[in-house]
Amino acid sequence: MRKLSLLSGLLLTTGLAAPALSDGHLQIVDEPLTLTIQMNHKRYPTYQEDWPVEQAARAMTGISLQDATVGANITSDQENTGKTEALNLMLASGAIPDIVGSSRLKDFVNQFGPEGAFIPLNDLIDEHAPNLKAFFESRPEIANAISAADGNMYYIPYLPDGKYGRAFFIRYDWLDKLGLEVPQTVQEYEDVLVAFRDGDPNGNGLKDEIPYFARQWPEMIRLVTLWDGRSSGSDTYHDFYVDDGQLKHPYAGEGYREGIKNLARWYEMGLIDAEVFTRGSSSRDYLLSENLGGATHDWFASTSGYNTSLADKVDGFAFKAFAPPASISGVRMEEHRRIPIKPDGWAIGHTNEHPVETIKYFDFWFTEEGRRLANFGVEGEHYTMVDGAPVFTDEVLNSDQPVNNQLYGIGAQLQARGYFQDYEYEKQWSNKFALEGIALYDEGDYLIDQFLGVAFNTDEQKVYDKSWGSIRDYMLERQQAWILGTGDVEADWDDYMATLNQMGLQDVLGVMQSAYERQYGG
Ligand code: CA
Repeated sequence: MRKLSLLSGLLLTTGLAAPALSDGHLQIVDEPLTLTIQMNHKRYPTYQEDWPVEQAARAMTGISLQDATVGANITSDQENTGKTEALNLMLASGAIPDIVGSSRLKDFVNQFGPEGAFIPLNDLIDEHAPNLKAFFESRPEIANAISAADGNMYYIPYLPDGKYGRAFFIRYDWLDKLGLEVPQTVQEYEDVLVAFRDGDPNGNGLKDEIPYFARQWPEMIRLVTLWDGRSSGSDTYHDFYVDDGQLKHPYAGEGYREGIKNLARWYEMGLIDAEVFTRGSSSRDYLLSENLGGATHDWFASTSGYNTSLADKVDGFAFKAFAPPASISGVRMEEHRRIPIKPDGWAIGHTNEHPVETIKYFDFWFTEEGRRLANFGVEGEHYTMVDGAPVFTDEVLNSDQPVNNQLYGIGAQLQARGYFQDYEYEKQWSNKFALEGIALYDEGDYLIDQFLGVAFNTDEQKVYDKSWGSIRDYMLERQQAWILGTGDVEADWDDYMATLNQMGLQDVLGVMQSAYERQYGG
């Protein structure tokens, strides 16, 4: 009875719709409990106690969070915000709040957790968090990926949903104009880019087309996959990858050498944007709206959006996804995908006097109702249930603001909270071109497995820290020189590999391998 009267009181004071509260079965505590939280992310530098999502969670669970964020720079350009500096400032202040939620939390808690700053979560989850336990049992690779070198989990991550990230895009209207088919192989792709260069598909009488461009220049390097090379093993550029249980670096492989040789050739031929290394993030916007760019490799949703936004500006504009062209050995590979787990999420500080209630609270966000709240906001305010599924209100879908920005503003889709995203949330506002492209990639099954990272022990960390930064710098410096034609990858290769080994590449691969085998059972 007490719970019921508490609930009706909350109903009156918060004005929440009754269905969101259901029958009180999500209540964690009999007496209201307040926990302090550090929450820091570039999109929301501190925790907002008036977020509608916080108020609904408070009503459902009996637990409320109180902002105690240290180190958030909310006054100027938020330059500290969302970075490890805020976590370091928090640690230096000597007061770790009950809950710590942040971007880039993983390495931090995996370093300071084993030293005692954060509470290990494994036993708490086993005993008190049935939804988290079920999730990790069904996805053991995620449990392995977030574990520290001592085998414990110290944070609950933000888990993105949906598989697809980037895709190959090309001007279908330019192909039509030049009487060409969608390229199916690396050779056909090259032929199409040559035709874009020479055939004046934008029809202005000038040879001004830029056949291939990229907002982020490493997307151009990613084209080495067309020659059976690799550019990264994860959604982070230049990352290691796993080849049949062996940790390798993509920039030390034969396919990479062949790919770079050919990309240097494409660059010299004018098939790749001459300014690819410098043009920067606005290049997609500029080259598409000026009717100059022919092909790229970029995100499904945002790139497809140009079909709508440029429909009135560029006559016949059709920039759509096409399947990855077959490589020289016939492999069609899409190297980029959404990573299933982010280094963002939340953890329990060592002075927290309510670890059981806190893990139950973390578990709440993995219940059906909690997950819906984290993804869609509050029922009746931001979404309604239609045939058993949440559907955003017209007000949310038709606002001037992107849906994801609106959701951050109400405390939903917070990546500094450990939660499991529901791709349905994004599908409801993806345009039809993006959904068509995703269907095409789904049909072809082009995605490959990702490397989910390792947690080093102290000795491994030392080896990695000693050599990796300078090795990586050297790799990138040579890479750029080869593309720009100030070096010859074939002639330089043996020296390049010898230098990498001298700099300690094999030692770094050795500690990656030992950490990997410990973490994933080799
Ligand atoms: Ca032209």
